[in-house]
Amino acid sequence: MALRVGVGFDSHRLAPGRPLLLGGVRIPHDRGLVGHSDGDVVIHAVIDALLGAAGRGNIGEWFPDTDEAFAGADSAALLARVWEDLAQRGWRLVNLDCVVVAQRPRLTPHLRAIQKRLAGLLGCPRGNVSVKPKTADALGLLERGEGMAAFAVVLVEVTEPAEAGPPPAGAPD
Ligand code: MG
Repeated sequence: MALRVGVGFDSHRLAPGRPLLLGGVRIPHDRGLVGHSDGDVVIHAVIDALLGAAGRGNIGEWFPDTDEAFAGADSAALLARVWEDLAQRGWRLVNLDCVVVAQRPRLTPHLRAIQKRLAGLLGCPRGNVSVKPKTADALGLLERGEGMAAFAVVLVEVTEPAEAGPPPAGAPD
């Protein structure tokens, strides 16, 4: 049995007229995150943590922001693709821990829904997924509510470690 840890980070600007998606959950707010995809900072951080743990590259290699195929992409679907690749290689999630940095809206009422969605996407019990909100005192753009950021750490395990293989260029191999 091999255990591997991975870390991920992401941040995006907020703008009016965009839906706010965090961890694949629509959060009521007067603005949303701007990105090539839907800007879901939580899922992007989780994807990078998973890919890092498994030695499978990074989100930019899988889903380049220069590729129109991923314009407006549903980040939950991107996570599902990444996790399918890792699960096929025998990886299992031990646990996921995330911090979401957001001045507003208040995320506490939405944490259970986010944890449930992430656990569903990763095929694990909800208790294996933690999502913690933090406000952003003294962090400039974040404090002024002009953006959001997320950090993620994962622990994954595999019974028989396989050769990680090269990360795919734009799509899973
Ligand atoms: Mg991103």
